[in-house]
Amino acid sequence: MNSDSNSFGTRASSINRALDQIGDKWCLLILQEVFWGVNTFSQMLAGTGASKGVLTDRLNWLQSIDCLRKETSGRHPVYHLTKKSIELYHNGLMAMVWERTHFSSPDLDKVELVHDRCGKPFWPVMQCGRCDKTVDSRDISFKPGPGAAVDQRATKTRRRSPAATRSSSKALYHNLIDLLGDRWTANLVALAFHGLKRFDEFHRELPVATNILADRLKRLVNEGVLSQQPYQRSPLRYEYQLTDKGRDLFPYFVTLLSWGNKYCSTDAGDPMLLTHSCCGNTLQAQVRCDQCSEVLIATEVHFHL
Ligand SMILES: [Zn+2]
Ligand SMILES: [Zn+2]
Repeated sequence: MNSDSNSFGTRASSINRALDQIGDKWCLLILQEVFWGVNTFSQMLAGTGASKGVLTDRLNWLQSIDCLRKETSGRHPVYHLTKKSIELYHNGLMAMVWERTHFSSPDLDKVELVHDRCGKPFWPVMQCGRCDKTVDSRDISFKPGPGAAVDQRATKTRRRSPAATRSSSKALYHNLIDLLGDRWTANLVALAFHGLKRFDEFHRELPVATNILADRLKRLVNEGVLSQQPYQRSPLRYEYQLTDKGRDLFPYFVTLLSWGNKYCSTDAGDPMLLTHSCCGNTLQAQVRCDQCSEVLIATEVHFHL
């Protein structure tokens, strides 16, 4: 990989770049809170379960990358989303869909989404902007884009949270955040969508310590996102495949990829191109209302509890 022990190269990926910016679980929790209108320090402290130090650190970080704006005119500072972070709205909706499909939570089960444009309760769906079919990971092929290159990444990241720490159960998609709010775990799932199956294949793309990789794969198997089947008996070796629950995470990653393409790309362009085999076009994934098929925008959606 790289002779410099403090960094290593990975294939350029807008998902990986997006994860570098907002993929830490505390950042995901904070952004989720602000989307729900929780935007003072004390509210976020209660809502996320973060310590004061961690919360301060992440709020500073999110401001430094232009994902939060601090307003100090009132008695307490209030944090607002920016143009950049509002565009993570579809990512939040896809997270919610996955959570509600695979976990039962009294809070989330009570939430009803209403689309002002058609006036109906609805469910968000991801469809192809060209052929209108619902996006399924099995209909997607990947090829290198104009910005395909190698990114250098630091071995140790400043914003690191233990993978095993559970977040506040108040978070609407806390199971997803607990699982994917870890850079390596999220990267492994993204790589599995590219068809990687074996430990060595994952390790080639993600050259972290083998014990970290083994631990995250085990976690994904335990959570039912990957299944493992032996492909060799002596020594015993496993292949990992996405389960239905794992494949259902695809829309979440597609929205992250789109956001990463827009906000984390270099001048060279997108590192990866996705083709929708149903229509043969480059995938233009849209998150739409399942009632009227219009693309959802944050200001036209209301939540009823
Ligand atoms: Zn299509
Ligand atoms: Zn609608």
